[in-house]
Amino acid sequence: MKNMVIMPNSVTGYHWTGPSLTTDQKNVPVAAGLPKIFWCKQMTYPDDLPQISVVFIFVNEALSVILRSVHSVVNHTPSHLLKEIILVDDNSDNVELKFNLDQYVNKRYPGLVKIVRNNKREGLIRARIQGWKAATSPVVGFFDAHVEFNIGWVEPALTRIKEDRKRIILPAIDNIKYNTFEVQQYANAAHGYNWGLWCMYIIPPQDWLDKGDESAPIRTPAMIGCSFVVDREYFGEIGLLDPGMEVYGGENIELGMRVWQCGGSMEVLPCSRVAHIERTKKPYNNDIDYYAKRNALRAAEVWMDDFKSHVYMAWNIPMANPGVDFGDVSERIALRQRLQCRSFKWYLENVYPEMRIYNNTVTYGEVRNSKASGYCLDQGAEEDDKAILYPCHGMSSQLVRYSSEGVLQLGPLGSTAFLPDSKCLVDDGKGRTPTLKKCEDVLRPAQRFWDFTQNGPIISRDTGRCLEVEMSKDANFGLRLVVQRCSGQKWMIRNWIKHGRH
Ligand code: UDP
Ligand code: MN
Repeated sequence: MKNMVIMPNSVTGYHWTGPSLTTDQKNVPVAAGLPKIFWCKQMTYPDDLPQISVVFIFVNEALSVILRSVHSVVNHTPSHLLKEIILVDDNSDNVELKFNLDQYVNKRYPGLVKIVRNNKREGLIRARIQGWKAATSPVVGFFDAHVEFNIGWVEPALTRIKEDRKRIILPAIDNIKYNTFEVQQYANAAHGYNWGLWCMYIIPPQDWLDKGDESAPIRTPAMIGCSFVVDREYFGEIGLLDPGMEVYGGENIELGMRVWQCGGSMEVLPCSRVAHIERTKKPYNNDIDYYAKRNALRAAEVWMDDFKSHVYMAWNIPMANPGVDFGDVSERIALRQRLQCRSFKWYLENVYPEMRIYNNTVTYGEVRNSKASGYCLDQGAEEDDKAILYPCHGMSSQLVRYSSEGVLQLGPLGSTAFLPDSKCLVDDGKGRTPTLKKCEDVLRPAQRFWDFTQNGPIISRDTGRCLEVEMSKDANFGLRLVVQRCSGQKWMIRNWIKHGRH
């Protein structure tokens, strides 16, 4: 795993910054003979490619940035292939995006640009659908309105779709630095996600790496979302994006699950490159986490079968009464039935085998002790490997997972093989302090097994000692977590999982 391009999950946004190609890809095998930059240049494409409609969506974007995207697509797309550009204004209140924008594009590119105005904010998901409705070419490309297109970006994408209309094509994404507008080339990556359905760049599949051909399409389980190209009618047939999703997030993962489960595919095309400004702050909402969670639950309920429990677990919320209204998913379930799509298990095995599966979970969530009301078990500072008690807040540092084997894990789910998993609570029999260790590093496996029943003690199977709370003046909040001779303290955990068949 030397050529990692995995970016950590974050709650601030979903396009992670990645290392540049030159430093990051030293270890990636390069096809013998030619430097890889020539591979894409040497490809040839059919003459009779279908035309594309390019859709940009925006809300309160800078006018100059939108125009930059428009100029770039005009300048770097052969004119006979670019049928139209569709600008979807998702109800911006910025005045320069009204008359000034209209006037500029109509003068500069007469007849080429259509502008669609939403008279209320629809969110990025329905804004993209509006763009699709206005499009008339056989192929449609969807982009954020702060991108630049590299030379030759469209031909490989159209070729792959012409060969097979069920392919969703993702141009490889590079970064435009938001403060200098310098383009930074990223390592070639697939697009994955964690169980919270936040996306991240992941290492391409092993067979792609083994091939050593940097121009070959990269199978990808999902998409980052700021750039994708699809056959217009096929996109309609498989149900566009989920129009019940609001504002931001989740739609990019849902489309990945859906296209694979319903007989299509998704791939990153390294020879088709689009650069995107990674912003540090959204100019529209500051609560996109809430919408990402809500939209993730829709995807989970429709596509993930029994694995949906993993999404609830990742967000550390109960499955019954999660406190989030994700709306009505019945039409999306009907769509899945109509298209006769495969199971999520099939998708995991065939498309996203790097996902870590937590089917042995019996309970999860916040864990409280009757002696310390308002306090929860917490993984504490990541470096110091000590579980602590901390005021309950329900975030993932207080996610406790108890498995049918008796393992107690604290902290956010590792989710994929690309990231370390949450640590195991251990009674090593030495002092009175329980520790957190990488589960595979525990020398005597018995040290990580506990008996835990609801409203009962937590007992180490190895030492017979109990996990308990001790009042102590010199501990944080006056509470210390210890392992000691059982005195009858009781613990409560929030959520129980009932698993059906898989
Ligand atoms: N967007 C929109 N309506 C919304 C939210 C976002 O049209 O309610 C657009 C936004 O202008 C951008 C795209 O959706 O073109 C993706 O959003 P953003 O670039 O903020 O997400 P990021 O790329 O930072 O994850
Ligand atoms: Mn963006």
